Amino acid sequence: MISTRQLATFGLILTRGYNRPAMHEYAVTENVVDIVCRHAVKAGARRVRRVHLVVGELSSIIDDSVQFYYDLISEGTVAQAAELVFRRVAVEVECGACGYVWQPADADWTCPQCGQAQARVRAGREFYVESIEVED
Ligand SMILES: [Zn+2]
Repeated sequence: MISTRQLATFGLILTRGYNRPAMHEYAVTENVVDIVCRHAVKAGARRVRRVHLVVGELSSIIDDSVQFYYDLISEGTVAQAAELVFRRVAVEVECGACGYVWQPADADWTCPQCGQAQARVRAGREFYVESIEVED
């Protein structure tokens, strides 16, 4: 019987500033592995089983690429062979004119309340490690 527990990590990963898509995924995954290892070691865990990631619909993160790079980068660490679980966050915008908040169904961000096109993104750009499940 292996005891497991879930640790909140809240490791925010910066996804801006990378131009090439492949580099982008590699760099953010390095960040993920770094955060996971740091928290697992600090908690005295033997092994990381699952990593829960929160991914905004606008963050252009491709799940399969992240898992691919994760397996490469985490090899030989406490985080090796963990399963990545992705939670997608829908796009939510706020009208700059009237303050109305909604989740646009497509690329048309015209305010359904007042008809202005001044929408600002409130949610959907995030990418972070929410929690990890570890074995003691
Ligand atoms: Zn409006």
